[in-house]
Amino acid sequence: MKSKKKILVTGGAGFIGSHLCSRLLKEGNEVICLDNFFTGSKDNVKHLLDDTNFELVRHDVTFPLYVEVDQIYNLACPASPIHYQFDPVQTTKTSVHGAINMLGLAKRTRARILQASTSEVYGDPEVHPQPESYFGKVNPVGIRSCYDEGKRCAETLFFDYWRQHKVAIRVIRIFNTYGPNMHPNDGRVVSNFIVQALKGQDITIYGDGSQTRSFQYVDDLIDGMIKMMENQEGLIGPVNLGNPDEFTIKALAEKVLEMIPESKSKIVYLPLPSDDPCRRKPDISLAKEKLNWEPKIKLNEGLKKTIDYFRAL
Ligand code: NAD
Ligand code: UDP
Repeated sequence: MKSKKKILVTGGAGFIGSHLCSRLLKEGNEVICLDNFFTGSKDNVKHLLDDTNFELVRHDVTFPLYVEVDQIYNLACPASPIHYQFDPVQTTKTSVHGAINMLGLAKRTRARILQASTSEVYGDPEVHPQPESYFGKVNPVGIRSCYDEGKRCAETLFFDYWRQHKVAIRVIRIFNTYGPNMHPNDGRVVSNFIVQALKGQDITIYGDGSQTRSFQYVDDLIDGMIKMMENQEGLIGPVNLGNPDEFTIKALAEKVLEMIPESKSKIVYLPLPSDDPCRRKPDISLAKEKLNWEPKIKLNEGLKKTIDYFRAL
C-alpha cells in the first residue's frame, strides 16, 4: 500500500489543478489546495470540500507560505493567453516569485516539488516535433513573453535550486491540454469552439486556421504528472507531456461542428494574434522510455467528454 502523503497543489482550483486534487485524494493522500481564484474557482473543487483530507486555502503564491508538506505540485499561473495577458506583470511575478517561494518552501520542508512548465518555452519552434533538448525560439519582448519567459525563468530557478541547494525537483512541459473544468470563458481554443458551437455563435478561427496544435486530454496528463513526481529513477526532467496527434485549428473547428450536429454556428476568420506559434507537437520519446507513459485518449473521445461537460453547464 502507498503511504499517505501531505501534498500541496498550487493553482489547485484551476482546470488541471482540480483534476489533480481529486486524483491525489482518491489515492489516499492529504491535499492542500492553494489558489487566489484569479482564473480558478471554488466550483471546480466543491465536490472535495467535505473530504477531511482536503483543505482549500486562498493565497497568492507571490507571497511566502508556511506549511509542512511532503510534495508540492506548482501549477499556479493563468494559462490562457487572454488571461495571462490581462495583467502581464502579475503573470511574470506569479511564475518567478511563485517559483522562488515554492522552492524555498521545498528547501525548508525537504519536499519534492514538480513544476508545471509548458510547451511555450519552445516559443514559435523551428524544430518539429519539439524534443526537450530544443532550446526554443522565444520573443523576449512580445505579448506572450510574460508567460513564456516567466515559465523559462521558473525552469532556471528549479534547476539552480537543484544544483545549489539539492532540492528534489521535477519539471514537466505540458502541451495543449483540454477537458472538463475549463472555464467557459477561458479563451483557449477547445473550450472556445465548443462553447461557441453549443451557443450557435460564430466559431472564431484566428488567422487562416493552418496553424497546428496537438491536444491532450486532461486524464492522460494527470497520469503523466503523477508518474513523473513518483519516479524513483531520479529523472528530474524537463519532460514533455502531450499528445503527439497534431491537428490544424481549422480541422479542430470542423471536428467540433461535426460532433455538435445541431449547431447553427458558422466559421469566421479573425486576425492572428502576434507571436502565435505556427505549429506545435511534442516529441514524447523521453516520457515513453523513462516513465512508461503515453497518452491513451484520442481527440474524438476526449472532445465527446468535454462537449458533454459544457452541455451540462
Ligand atoms: P487555469 O488558469 O485553469 O489554472 C491556473 C490556476 O492558478 C487558477 O486556479 C488560478 O486562479 C491560479 N492562480 C493564478 N495566479 C495565482 C497566484 N498568483 N497565486 C495563486 N494561484 C494563482 O490553467 P490550467 O490550464 O489549469 O493550467 C495549470 C498550470 O499548467 C499552469 O501553470 C499552466 O501554465 C500549466 N500549463 C497548462 C497547459 C494547458 O494546456 N492547460 C499547457 C501548458 C502548461
Ligand atoms: N485560436 C483560435 N480561435 C480561438 C482561440 C484560439 O483560432 O477562439 C487559436 C490560437 O490563435 C492558436 C490556437 O488556436 O493558434 C491555440 O490557442 P490557445 O489559446 O488554445 O493556446 P496556445 O496558443 O497557447 O497554444
